[in-house]
Amino acid sequence: MISTQQLKLLKNLYIYRSFGYKYYNDIINNRSLSNSTNDLPSTFDELQTFVHNCHLCSLAKTRKNVVFGEGDAKAKLMFIGEGPGMSEDESGRPFVGRAGELLTKIIENVLFINRHDVYIANIVKCRPPNNRVPTQEEATSCLPFLQKQIQIIKPKIIVTLGATAYRYLTNELEASITKIRGEVIDFGLYKLIPTFHPSYLLRNPSAKKYVYADMLKVRAML
Ligand code: SF4
Repeated sequence: MISTQQLKLLKNLYIYRSFGYKYYNDIINNRSLSNSTNDLPSTFDELQTFVHNCHLCSLAKTRKNVVFGEGDAKAKLMFIGEGPGMSEDESGRPFVGRAGELLTKIIENVLFINRHDVYIANIVKCRPPNNRVPTQEEATSCLPFLQKQIQIIKPKIIVTLGATAYRYLTNELEASITKIRGEVIDFGLYKLIPTFHPSYLLRNPSAKKYVYADMLKVRAML
């Protein structure tokens, strides 16, 4: 279990690296970091302030805004994506670009829920340059914040969007989204349903029928 003091130490190590020191691999490879939520702030406002000042991974150097997440802090349904893109980095809000517009349509036209009544977040809260997939190191650094959000919200259902979100959230790093999509998975206190990312649907509109089927499942369970 990692303490706040250890998080500060890790931050200092990143600062040292910016001066030319090399990473100490035993620390960055320690996956127990992803379980370290106990010493994080326990209210949403405090957690948000904490995260907005985060420099734990190298994404802090290139971000314009931290994208903490948005929605109802008591939502029954939570969507988790991979990370902010350009529009999200500019605005500080999750899923506001073309993929976000599609996600909003899915929420409002298939689930018949207002977007404000769900909670939307990402695995990493700062934009990876050129929208690349977040590295394991970046995901490991950021995951405790998302885990804390989940603990505070206590959603009934979590929907992961795309392979990366599912893999990093569950630590099943080899999982195939085409194989597990639409399954209802027991994930601790929650039900987890993986589905395709809206960006994938923009490139492959024929896959919309699968997400539609997954959302019908979600709707029936809410
Ligand atoms: S991505 Fe997460 S861990 Fe990395 S700097 Fe941003 S908030 Fe911190």
